[in-house]
Amino acid sequence: MNSGVGQRIQEIIKTLPSEVKLVAISKFHSIDKILSAYQVGQRIFGESKEQELSKKVELLPKDIEWHYIGHLQTNKVKFIAPYISMIEAVDSVKLLNEINKQAAKCNRTIDVLLELHIAEEDSKYGFKLDECRQFLLSGAWQQLTHIRIRGLMMMASYVENEKQIEREMMMASDFFDELKSTIFAETDCFNQRSWGMSDDYHIAIKCNSTLVRIGSAIFGERS
Ligand SMILES: *Cc1c(COP(=O)(O)O)cnc(C)c1O
Repeated sequence: MNSGVGQRIQEIIKTLPSEVKLVAISKFHSIDKILSAYQVGQRIFGESKEQELSKKVELLPKDIEWHYIGHLQTNKVKFIAPYISMIEAVDSVKLLNEINKQAAKCNRTIDVLLELHIAEEDSKYGFKLDECRQFLLSGAWQQLTHIRIRGLMMMASYVENEKQIEREMMMASDFFDELKSTIFAETDCFNQRSWGMSDDYHIAIKCNSTLVRIGSAIFGERS
């Protein structure tokens, strides 16, 4: 039943430039399907619900790198802090502080991405560009020694218009370049751009993505 999963992963990887990594978004999908992906060498998986993720982590191989891609409530951070590889959708300073605190308790440094709100929909989380810029300029994050800000993440508007999607992703890419050449000029680790999902990763690649988050094009529709 799941043989298609491995094949679809291999087909997608063939279309990705070598510097772009695939995050296989396995939310709502079974352990069996995840193992099919693992068997063809996939090691980075993304989930968006803490309980579902924690359950899967227990049952699956320990060399999987888990990315948390959903909106994370501060009271859930302590559950994932011991093992999470990257928290991709940090959308508030409060959350960043909590991740730092829980990472310290685990003696870890956790990689994070700051989520940008660029899409036109109101419901999406994330920092407005200027909020993000002001926060970073304040320097307050430099006290947070148990997090490493690795880059930016965003979701484009859910629209048919590819020009609009491209415009939004390029806005994120240009903003990344601005930060890279100013606030993060002295560090090598600010180097990740997470945009692109099943329907728009072909556009994201053109807009300098380094992490594409692909779910349904690999695992099928979520039930
Ligand atoms: C579910 C999800 C994805 C994957 O979406 P698909 O359309 O299934 O590829 C990517 N990013 C985030 C933040 C998601 O919640």
